[in-house]
Amino acid sequence: MSEVTPIPLSELTTLRVGAAPDRMVDARTRDELVDALREVWAAGDEPWFVLGGGSNLLPGDEPFPGTVIRILTSGFEEVPGARDGFVRIRVEAGQNWDELVAWSVSQGLSGIEAMSGIPGTVGAAPIQNVGAYGQEIVQTLVEVELIDEETGDVSTVPASELGLGPRTSVLKQHYGSVPQRSAVVLSLTLELARVGHEPRPVADARLRAALALGPEAEVSVAWIRETVLSIRAGKGMVLNDADHDTHSAGSFFNNPIVTDAVASTLPAECPRWPMTPAVDAVSVIPLDQWDGSVPPPSAAPTLVKVSAAWLIENSGLPKGFGLPRSRATLSTKHTLALTNRGGASAGEIAQLARFVQSRVAAEFGIVLMPEPVLIGVEL
Ligand SMILES: Cc1cc2nc3c(=O)[nH]c(=O)nc-3n(C[C@H](O)[C@H](O)[C@H](O)COP(=O)(O)OP(=O)(O)OC[C@H]3O[C@@H](n4cnc5c(N)ncnc54)[C@H](O)[C@@H]3O)c2cc1C
Repeated sequence: MSEVTPIPLSELTTLRVGAAPDRMVDARTRDELVDALREVWAAGDEPWFVLGGGSNLLPGDEPFPGTVIRILTSGFEEVPGARDGFVRIRVEAGQNWDELVAWSVSQGLSGIEAMSGIPGTVGAAPIQNVGAYGQEIVQTLVEVELIDEETGDVSTVPASELGLGPRTSVLKQHYGSVPQRSAVVLSLTLELARVGHEPRPVADARLRAALALGPEAEVSVAWIRETVLSIRAGKGMVLNDADHDTHSAGSFFNNPIVTDAVASTLPAECPRWPMTPAVDAVSVIPLDQWDGSVPPPSAAPTLVKVSAAWLIENSGLPKGFGLPRSRATLSTKHTLALTNRGGASAGEIAQLARFVQSRVAAEFGIVLMPEPVLIGVEL
């Protein structure tokens, strides 16, 4: 563990904003990371956060008044315990995510290939249950090694205890809230299927749709990776120094999840995806336990995910939109990314985010919530 001269977060985040924090510590090994965290936590109430690739973060223009711990660990290894036909890989938190995906594809392993091109570190992937094109880390994540702030203890926690859902987990600091569990991922274990390099059918309908494949089509994992990278590059969703549309945090707003009643007020053209089955699940009561009564219908409303990009574009904000004299604009390739056109402050990004929120709320009555973690910034 080494204390370093604090680097401006504008150099360490993909939105390219943020002042240098008061203090910065680099952790290059798992032990250094544990030591750094325990040291900061022992100091009492000192503010802290860990930084991975900085690709899901909007830090403020004022210096963060505490310690930023950079996770610079790397590496992965095969571990025992996998089911037949699968392989288990334990990965250090600071490992670059896309390098891991590239390696898995080169080994003929399947499970994360559709998430090619997502920036950042492996340890941050469970924080918001990263996902793209029908794959999410929840589908392959076995367990994480966590260090908890409350106790300083390290434990292995099964994926099922992380509350992984659409761009969320118990570890994520959502806008205006604290995480349900304050802990840092030291490493994690994935289970990937050994499928080899030959073309094979694509089971997931969402992935087939994204890749414009028919139900009979057969493709290799390498083909999926290359195709996903090419689609993402066309949308400015693969980091590229020369392309300002990628100077973003990816999608800035979550697709809102609303009740069916709210969704029904939106124009029919607004893309939507059901989140819960429209019919109640059937529960079978054994005949000898049935008292003859009919259970009341479930009061739970059907939830629907709606397209935030569509809401933004149809509230009158086109691709590339920016406020007068601001260096922040919507991406010229899709409306969901807020981008830094060069030298924008966190304040300018936040101003644009608030403007988008107010237009969508005025037009459709829905408040969009930010996906990146905001530190020292208010919308
Ligand atoms: C161009 C672009 C495209 C993107 N596309 C996608 C996409 O398709 N799907 C998707 O889901 N996301 C996408 N993202 C968002 C982002 O890449 C992911 O959320 C990624 O997992 C963030 O990793 P990071 O290491 O950069 O995290 P950071 O930005 O460094 O950190 C994000 C949050 O996680 C916390 N954190 C980081 N590491 C740890 C750890 N080891 N333990 C505990 N907390 C930790 C940080 O404190 C912070 O609160 C995209 C971003 C960009 C810029």
